[in-house]
Amino acid sequence: MKILLTEFRQESNSFNPTLSSLEFWHHTGEYEGQAVRDTFTDQPCAIGGFLKALDESSLEPEVICGTVMASQSGGVAEQAVMDHYLSRLIPQIEANPGLDGIFVSFHGALMTTDFDDPEGEITKRIRALVGNDTVIAVATDLHAYISQTLVEHANVILGYLTYPHVDHFETGYRTARIGIDAIASDVRPVTAWVPIPMIAPAASYNTLDGAFKEVIDHGHTLRDAGSILDFTVYQMQPWLDIPEPNSAAIAVADNAEDAARYATELAELLYGKRYEFKSSLATIDDVIALAKDTSQPKPIILVDSADSCNAGASGDNMAVAEQILAIGGNIRAASVVNDAPAARKAHELGVGATAEFTLGATRNPASTSITGEARVKSLHDGVFRQEGPAGRGMTQRIGRTAVLTFGNLDVVVCEWMAGNGDPQLYRAHGIEPTLYDLVVVKASTSFRAGYSAFAGAIVEADTPGAASSDLMRLPFTRLPTTIYPWRDDPAPEWTVTYAPIAGRRA
Ligand SMILES: [Zn+2]
Repeated sequence: MKILLTEFRQESNSFNPTLSSLEFWHHTGEYEGQAVRDTFTDQPCAIGGFLKALDESSLEPEVICGTVMASQSGGVAEQAVMDHYLSRLIPQIEANPGLDGIFVSFHGALMTTDFDDPEGEITKRIRALVGNDTVIAVATDLHAYISQTLVEHANVILGYLTYPHVDHFETGYRTARIGIDAIASDVRPVTAWVPIPMIAPAASYNTLDGAFKEVIDHGHTLRDAGSILDFTVYQMQPWLDIPEPNSAAIAVADNAEDAARYATELAELLYGKRYEFKSSLATIDDVIALAKDTSQPKPIILVDSADSCNAGASGDNMAVAEQILAIGGNIRAASVVNDAPAARKAHELGVGATAEFTLGATRNPASTSITGEARVKSLHDGVFRQEGPAGRGMTQRIGRTAVLTFGNLDVVVCEWMAGNGDPQLYRAHGIEPTLYDLVVVKASTSFRAGYSAFAGAIVEADTPGAASSDLMRLPFTRLPTTIYPWRDDPAPEWTVTYAPIAGRRA
């Protein structure tokens, strides 16, 4: 058995005006061949999971490591990024005729300047190249946009089952296991897809508690009972301005009837709970007032999800910092910002220097900036390891980094933010969140995995930005207002589409 694995992963945000260039992608590196094994073996990512499942398979597959490239979320990718990826991947496939399988790790919510659904397009091109006998197994994020095109050209599609996402590795592992079965097992797994006409703000649900946990728990119950082999319930990333959006349910079973039945059941369940996926947003001023209240346990975590780089926003909005400086009084506060010019300036000035700094709005002109006298408290190389539990041990690189102090407000200033949901974004730079009254976290839900352990309170604030939870106020121009929350129809006639069943050893 011969399997090629590859990754092309980024989450796009249509409302971030800065396109994601190849240079931006390359901050995270590009790997192929032995470098993939050296970098990702046993790492908490989908490729690590692929490798584990393939290496432990009794069928002893030959594993070819094709190109692996992933990027921090951001604005729509320049088409040159996808062209570059294909210019690497296509020759790798051509150089290995007779592949039994291609296992692909996508985020699933990428857009390029030419394609609304690049993952579907790429899978279609791979299929055209390898024919119908090669199994294409795709692992994705839970926030993927699963399109008709992807389903028509992949054989297996599975995504994360956790949010905050802590099962990247397991998702790669599950996908590869089913992919191997699709190639070699006597009973071929059948993948059924049911699109769901809704999107929900990412900060309004998680799998730790509440309505979405109930949906995912139901899937686990079906799997544990042997009714299905696997499943995913997708909540589409809501900041994609595309003409055919959908959330989705996928069920994989050993027969078509069960795959269809349970995918429909999961779709019905998610849609039925749509009213429960609402964010309640506090005003910035109210959260600051909470931080000033000495009777409140600290730290107060102010969730600025609208400016979350994890969700593709620019991470350069200082709207919250502006209010902290204006009305925060004596509270000790911490924030973070993407501002490459300010980070470089701090490095030129050196530790202890005081100067006038302008922070913010270097990437998105619509963002708020602040200007004031600040002290360069510390300088860093921006390399740190996540403490987890999500992505524990993963190395993040955020470029040249400085901590600037404006009175009682400490700001981590970096070149390109990453690991936003992990407390080490602060701790590694000398800011211990538990000693602060107010900590700004630019993430939607990922941070709950780490911050819940010590937060006095977690409050989502109504902040401006490309990843706003207030979907109705975002400037969609192409997304049809025929889905929830724009339209609130009763459950539709569910349509089931099967991914093709492939495999040469029939
Ligand atoms: Zn996600």
